Amino acid sequence: MKTFALAGNPNCGKTTLFNALTGSTAHVGNWPGVTVDKREGIYKGGSEKVAIIDLPGIYSLSPYTPEEVISRNYILDEKPYGIINIIDATNLERNLYLTTQLLEMDVPVIIALNMMDEVEKVGDKIDVSALEKATGVPVVAISALRKKGISELMDRALAMKGERAGATVLEGGLSSKIGRAKQFFEGAGVSSPLFHAVKMLEGDEIELKHDGAQELFVEISAGQDMEAIIADMRYRYISEHFSSVKVKSGRDALTRSDRADKVLTHKIWGLPIFAVILLAIFHLTFSEDLFYISAIAEACGSPLPSWGDLGFEVIEGTEIYSNFGIALAACFYDGAVFSPGMILTNLFNLVLNYASYGIDLGVQAAGGAEWAAGLINDGIVGGITAVLGFLPQILTLFLFFSVLEDSGYMARVAFILDRIFRRFGLSGRAFMPMIMGFGCSIPAMINTRTLADDEERTATIRVIPFFSCGAKLPILTAIAGGFCNLVGFSNVDLITYSMYVLGVITAIIAVILMRATTMRGEVPPFIMELPAYHMPGFVNLMLHLWDKTKHFIKKAFTIIFVSTIVIWLLQSFRWNWTYISDGDIQSSMLASLGQFIQPLFTPLGFGSQLGAYGWVFAVAAITGLIAKENVIATFSVLAAMFVANFEGTEEGVEEAIIMIANTGISPAALIAFIMFNVTTIPCFAAVATAKAELPKGRFAWTIAFWLVTSYIVGAAIYTVGSWWWTVFIWLALAVAAVTIIVLKNKGIIKFPKLKKRGA
Ligand code: GDP
Ligand code: MG
Repeated sequence: MKTFALAGNPNCGKTTLFNALTGSTAHVGNWPGVTVDKREGIYKGGSEKVAIIDLPGIYSLSPYTPEEVISRNYILDEKPYGIINIIDATNLERNLYLTTQLLEMDVPVIIALNMMDEVEKVGDKIDVSALEKATGVPVVAISALRKKGISELMDRALAMKGERAGATVLEGGLSSKIGRAKQFFEGAGVSSPLFHAVKMLEGDEIELKHDGAQELFVEISAGQDMEAIIADMRYRYISEHFSSVKVKSGRDALTRSDRADKVLTHKIWGLPIFAVILLAIFHLTFSEDLFYISAIAEACGSPLPSWGDLGFEVIEGTEIYSNFGIALAACFYDGAVFSPGMILTNLFNLVLNYASYGIDLGVQAAGGAEWAAGLINDGIVGGITAVLGFLPQILTLFLFFSVLEDSGYMARVAFILDRIFRRFGLSGRAFMPMIMGFGCSIPAMINTRTLADDEERTATIRVIPFFSCGAKLPILTAIAGGFCNLVGFSNVDLITYSMYVLGVITAIIAVILMRATTMRGEVPPFIMELPAYHMPGFVNLMLHLWDKTKHFIKKAFTIIFVSTIVIWLLQSFRWNWTYISDGDIQSSMLASLGQFIQPLFTPLGFGSQLGAYGWVFAVAAITGLIAKENVIATFSVLAAMFVANFEGTEEGVEEAIIMIANTGISPAALIAFIMFNVTTIPCFAAVATAKAELPKGRFAWTIAFWLVTSYIVGAAIYTVGSWWWTVFIWLALAVAAVTIIVLKNKGIIKFPKLKKRGA
């Protein structure tokens, strides 16, 4: 089977082409560095099967960052049949810099001139045959996004001969130097001697490791800065030969993006605009009251009906069939108009309610043992539907985030943040994986491979979980609901938004502290080019959401399924394995286990100071270590049993809210509980990823960092929220810490060095 590797600059559309060729659904994002590992797929369009490899985006083949190493080694070692070099045609000159290097390898190359739709839209033209002549390799104009020219590209790629001798654009005085170096590598018997020769002349560390290369390099370069000379010659060659290839129209391709950027990346307004955009997103996802719409309805003289108990009971209760109309209406408005996110949530929960009601009827008809009915209804169905019920909101939030990302706006956010935080040791490059963390920590942690500096990488991996992921969303919304219920505040969206922002602020403070102490290092220049804004592709968005959905549902029926069964067992049986049929969960195994760890959380407000059922928070926090969705699944399983003893009618999240109120927890402690879960050790899968991605020797400290941070954050929120004057104690501690750091960095105070054990 022939193998083709896709190589190109970051953000030139490689993954989009990969998906178009292979029909897979890899993540596409409008910012550089989304693909940081190689990925394989099969092209089935032609008569023969062809393997396609998506390589990480690179600007050059001189390895500075891990992904450049991955791409370079892949081409040199695995020897693909050919390289498909994707070029962003709206940025021809910059992209050709990599091409001049690829052409030096002894591999067949075909150029895919991507984004031709954009070029045509602004009325530009590119002379494809002139480009073919100048590079000596086939060139095909395509649009990966609109799936144009793809089969022609593959036909011509497959028609290429399997052999090609490398050629270089470097000439003049360099020719003889390259010739000598090339002889050396031919003598050493490596493949692609020309490529190695040029890289060696650039002073590439990998090449200089060959026996005798160092001496030869010193001799040939004769003290000149060869790297700069070669780079300069490549650029000069490109501008001399290829600027004629592009026939510009009168209009400038980037003016519209530029004009938008004047506002969106404004020095002062850039960040506030981002904050407002985020707030709007949270409002549309979580709000139970789009008050302006209600206000309009009122002004028009027809205030919206409030279903009150009727609506509620109809949705929750057994009259569900006879009152379907009202149940349906109550999904959209109930005295006030719900936000789109809430409407979807209500509709989906209506379906879930039907389903669990149906299952309940089935269980009753089957007439099994009492414990079996409990296991199915309260354990499995209760736990899983509680988690699944958040799927619409997660998807709504991700739809908005994907739009921001794909349109090119998120890359601007990294740019804005870079400008503010660079002086504190935090670069815009590090923000991109952090922002990805809003989706899931795992790909975000892998994405830190774009960071060349190990210290910056470690600090970034550690704070990625603070960018609250999809699995933490149910904790945020449900507990925020509990909070609003306790204090009689009705804007859940504001609380959820604040929790997200608080997570981000914690992350930034933590990184700044680390970069000033244990993780010091240079901030590499931020050379990302801002991609042009464009309309997000509908198919891309849907693929992205579908991926999320699949992942979430799979998790619900595996990890969360098993966890809810375990929780249910522990809370339904006593230590002597007798079933608790009278609702006395205080005598369950889970209660005593929970009470055992409960004191750990006293400084955070959800420990020993709570009433009899306070241990549920300790239990939920622990189950969250397996998967964050478990926190809410646990609450739901426990609440089913709990509420059965006390009130009676409510179900699901409503039950959990009643249970929360009955533990006697304070509002401040509820917020502390949310933020503890956001900043503590993430789920198993994320921990495993961190272990794999962190540089050697950093893992144990990272776990300690998560524990300490979540403890400090939780304790600070709880104490300040309960006794406002403690804010002075925390401020004093912060000032003391910063003073010590500054004094130590200036060398005014020194700590005695700890002796390493065994060293
Ligand atoms: P990669 O970093 O090289 O893998 O690039 P992606 O495949 O993630 O694409 C980067 C951005 O370019 C995404 O927003 C794509 O939707 C967009 N894109 C990719 N191909 C095309 C194209 O042919 N035309 C246009 N207009 N946009 C494209
Ligand atoms: Mg990619």
